[in-house]
Amino acid sequence: MTKEKKKILVANRGEIAIRIIRAIQELGFEAVAVYEKPDARSLHIRLAHESVLLGDGPRCDYLNIEKIIRAAQAVGAQAIHPGYGFLAENPYFAKCCEDAGLIFIGPTSKVIADLGNKVVARQIMADAGIPMVPGTSNLSQGRKGLDEALAFAAAHGYPVMLKATAGGGGRGIRRVDSDEQMTSQIPTARAEALAAFGDDSVYLEKLVINPKHVEVQILADNHGRTLHLGTRDCSIQRRNQKLIEIAPSMVGKPALLEEICRAAVKAAKAAGYTNAGTVEFLIDRDYNYYFMEINTRIQVEHTVTEMITGIDIVRNQIKLAFGEPLAITQEDVRPRGHAIELRINAEDPKNNFMPEGGKQVLVYRSPGGFGVRLDGIVYQGYEIPEVYDSLLVKMTVHGFTWNETVNRCRRCLHNFVIAGPKTTIPFYMNIVEEPDFIAGDFDTSYLETHPQLFYYDEDKSDVSKLSKFIAEIHHRKHNPFSS
Ligand code: ADP
Ligand code: ADP
Ligand code: MG
Repeated sequence: MTKEKKKILVANRGEIAIRIIRAIQELGFEAVAVYEKPDARSLHIRLAHESVLLGDGPRCDYLNIEKIIRAAQAVGAQAIHPGYGFLAENPYFAKCCEDAGLIFIGPTSKVIADLGNKVVARQIMADAGIPMVPGTSNLSQGRKGLDEALAFAAAHGYPVMLKATAGGGGRGIRRVDSDEQMTSQIPTARAEALAAFGDDSVYLEKLVINPKHVEVQILADNHGRTLHLGTRDCSIQRRNQKLIEIAPSMVGKPALLEEICRAAVKAAKAAGYTNAGTVEFLIDRDYNYYFMEINTRIQVEHTVTEMITGIDIVRNQIKLAFGEPLAITQEDVRPRGHAIELRINAEDPKNNFMPEGGKQVLVYRSPGGFGVRLDGIVYQGYEIPEVYDSLLVKMTVHGFTWNETVNRCRRCLHNFVIAGPKTTIPFYMNIVEEPDFIAGDFDTSYLETHPQLFYYDEDKSDVSKLSKFIAEIHHRKHNPFSS
């Protein structure tokens, strides 16, 4: 890269905006934050070199392509990092950046468009010989589509997955167990897909019973080289959304994992992939693996891969987008130990993970020490905006053995104090004591098959006792945040 100081606009908020700003600053570049009014007290604005208020929001301004490109031009930025969510997987946004002469930090708009469509992506992967579950292409409209669906179910058997072709973020996926359900679910699924993704296309996949979700982190430069950074297991999910992610996968079959990593590189090459991306697979109980999708962006859980490889993925994203060749080879990627990421969300697990937005963080005391990394947006006094997602802080813990890593997680959870909103901390305290988790034995049914995880007494946990105690003293002595 040239010596001239580069300026990068971060088109996102929350923890990922902060993560990206840190990487930009470590490269010696300037970071520009954007924000909506409900985020006016967000840390990402304070950490950036400069910031631009987009509007009142909520969400619509973070999604406003024209405003963001105008902001980038106004401050003289050369590149835009989209983070995850919002515009990150919008091919039209990437195209607008390209047309405006701005570097979009991600793959090309063409690749994002291809891979954002699950049916097109499956076709590319089928042509490349990547294993996948049987599935249909987009179902036709009306009676014809229902007949196609019933024929698929008759040929492959129930249960099947009805999926929104343009879906993402765990939404637009539903299990179908009978012809009756199929008849009623297709119109509902279409209506939901249209509302959520602006596209009512749906298709079917054979449902894999209680699979493990295993994914591979990819890095590819603009000069034809692609490598992988190994696997992550993201099986612990609620509503098809990830809660806990670990690296590497503990499936216990090194040859299978190597094969999956090779398949991921092949998949990325087949798609013409550049920059960082994630190839997602399912593994069934007989150790067959199936391609699921490619996410064309930085992933929430990238931290576990960074911890075990020592490779800064966001820094690499920026360098690759500016056209630098990969500085490392596949042989340089030497994963070490285990990492676990816990998404500490302002949610009530007992109440179906209901978001606790709108609350204020009265006390915040984070854990630290060897092998601990925190990526968050929280500070004492922070008012959690109601209008965005509920992720407060990601706690990523690294250890030499799995056992050491779980023990470190447990220790850190006991040291973590967040008073104000309910969080997922006491729920995770149960998980790190649970024998199957401790044995590294879990699949996507983990939460359903372990209902005991939802029994905890908030008042009796150390965190709760300590946080209540501190909150009371705080409130009585200073009463600083009451309004
Ligand atoms: P996956 O899409 O495979 O489930 P992630 O767990 O990395 O992968 O991300 C979950 C999804 O949730 C993202 O695709 C994104 O659309 C959405 N999401 C997560 N956090 C945020 C956020 N802070 N802002 C907007 N969208 C978010
Ligand atoms: P999204 O784009 O929303 O992340 P994915 O296609 O990656 O959607 O699927 C999200 C999750 O849904 C997976 O991690 C898995 O738990 C479940 N899932 C998706 N497809 C299947 C399938 N065919 N069989 C079983 N589970 C599936
Ligand atoms: Mg996915």
